[in-house]
Amino acid sequence: VIDLHCHLDLYPEPAAVARECETRGVYVLSVTNTPSAWDGTAALAEGSPRIRTALGLHPALARERRAELPLFDRLLPLTRYVGEVGLDGSPELRGSWDDQIAVFLHVLQACSAAGGRAMTIHSRRAASPVLDMLEKHADAGTAILHWFSGSPAELRRAINVGCWFSVGPAMLCSAKGRAMAAAIPRSRVLTESDGPFAQARGRPLYPWDVATAIEALASLWGVDARQAEDQLARNLRSLIIAEQGFSEEGV
Ligand SMILES: [Zn+2]
Repeated sequence: VIDLHCHLDLYPEPAAVARECETRGVYVLSVTNTPSAWDGTAALAEGSPRIRTALGLHPALARERRAELPLFDRLLPLTRYVGEVGLDGSPELRGSWDDQIAVFLHVLQACSAAGGRAMTIHSRRAASPVLDMLEKHADAGTAILHWFSGSPAELRRAINVGCWFSVGPAMLCSAKGRAMAAAIPRSRVLTESDGPFAQARGRPLYPWDVATAIEALASLWGVDARQAEDQLARNLRSLIIAEQGFSEEGV
């Protein structure tokens, strides 16, 4: 089971969740919303080789935490994973749009200068501007659009731009989300919980709840859960290879 976008540090008992992931053998990309959360969040992964920590600055915090960009730059050499980053075009965040653009641009330029990173990207109500910026910074690394909710045309464009997609139980419980997931090439799909923000039946999702997303994908793909899990494991391997700059054929 692979959870490529989880806010491990925001559970009430983060250390217990990290231990449970280790016990269950769940691979977790533990994202941060601010550079200042890096130290505490990275500490949760100590002794857990399946947990990797991503360095982020969430678009909803772009205005209040923009001053942490120098800290982002100092920490970037410590990790191959960046997130949560991106843009959010929701009406309540309109006032911070210029800060969001400045922060995401800085992140993409820093990733390019560092040789590329795997980036887990938020694009709520902002898929087109996110894709515009990714196109201009193709050497920033591998973009994984998390919980994508753009239009079908934006989805086609994202596929053409080379994006990957992480889908979770919350996305796959709506018909729109399932239609979106069905339209993504199988080789570019990964799974996520987005816990504890994302919820199911009134409680926060945990990384191991990704199992329900695997079942949903299996039924979309017309395969059994085991085959879907194998596909997702192959995808994670090829993502890691792509992110390291090797061609899939060359390894
Ligand atoms: Zn998130």
